Amino acid sequence: MRALQYLTVGAAPELVDISTPIPGPGEVLLRVTAAGVCHSDQFIMDLPADQYIYGLPLTLGHEGAGTVESWGAGVTGLQVGDAMLVYGPWGCGRCYTCSQGKENYCEVAAERGIQPPGLGAPGAMAEFLLIDDPRHLVPLGGLDPVASVSLTDAGLTPYHAIKQSLPKLVPGSTAVVIGVGGLGHVGVEILRALTAATIVAIDSAESKLELALEVGADYAMLPGDDAEAQIRSLTAGKGAAVVFDFVGAPVTTGFASRVVGVGGEIAIVGVGVGTVDVGFFSTPWDSAARAPYWGSRSELMEVVELARAGKIHVEVEEFPLSNAPDAYQRLRAGTLRGRAVIVPDPMHAAGDPT
Ligand code: NAD
Ligand code: ZN
Repeated sequence: MRALQYLTVGAAPELVDISTPIPGPGEVLLRVTAAGVCHSDQFIMDLPADQYIYGLPLTLGHEGAGTVESWGAGVTGLQVGDAMLVYGPWGCGRCYTCSQGKENYCEVAAERGIQPPGLGAPGAMAEFLLIDDPRHLVPLGGLDPVASVSLTDAGLTPYHAIKQSLPKLVPGSTAVVIGVGGLGHVGVEILRALTAATIVAIDSAESKLELALEVGADYAMLPGDDAEAQIRSLTAGKGAAVVFDFVGAPVTTGFASRVVGVGGEIAIVGVGVGTVDVGFFSTPWDSAARAPYWGSRSELMEVVELARAGKIHVEVEEFPLSNAPDAYQRLRAGTLRGRAVIVPDPMHAAGDPT
């Protein structure tokens, strides 16, 4: 089968032919229908060799959708052709947090070497994808796979971040969203769907500000001193109840620290190595910062229901697998609108799993 693999540290990913996996006991083989392109892929491909921990070659793609093709011994309850989304942050399934469905915070995944598809295990940018356990599949529920594959990360990650902050996002409050790319634009929609908060979107690219307004932000502005002043003025000096930072660079976490209000929260979602210096003399009283990671299995089901209800949707640009390297170039150039989604080339996707 064809797959997009990261082969050499520092080099662009390449299309390769590899053998199609065969599901072992307890495993499921999906015929991939769509795979999303995430900035985290770029982040890991930019890591120097001594910090790169995801193995080589790595088939990319931690947002996946597909139809059930076959399964190994012991798997029950599936039918060939069932349309599924892949829950990506695989855990052990048995520890205390996993038993609550929060496999994103599995207590033993790191020590046991359990890694998500596309971030250690072979990912979804291929014609077929091996799933380690059927519990990591969530039915698509009639949604279109290309339009919906990114619910698994660009939807789930902001949902998880926002859900924890809902008690603060009361009517009259203000939420600031920094970075209106793949995750951020869905974040704006989720805030719109779940809260009555005023939504202020910040992005360094003008085109993303237009997107932010289209998907439900009340205000959209470039970062900087002027934006800080505008947020102060919009909130009558109070500052933001919650700042969701989908960039997470020092410049944006610094901005977040300056616009958050008393009792407010900063959720650092982007992996740009920025930090928030919480302290009595550095941030407003009783403010807090956290760095959420991905989301739980039940939260993915909730995100799918939000999409099925028509309350959120992902803006996607579709690329055939043969053009997947272009999608990564567009991501790097910052010219994507929403999420890039890779689909297997029709000629190949029609083939047998050999
Ligand atoms: P993206 O490239 O689609 O979007 C990033 C957006 O941020 C773009 O619109 C860009 O114009 C904007 N931006 C960049 N620098 C900026 C700045 N200094 N000020 C304002 N705006 C700026 O990326 P994405 O796929 O949405 O991912 C966003 C971040 O979230 C990445 O760091 C990614 O690695 C991370 N991520 C984290 C998790 C998690 O679980 N915490 C999950 C997925 C992705
Ligand atoms: Zn991601």
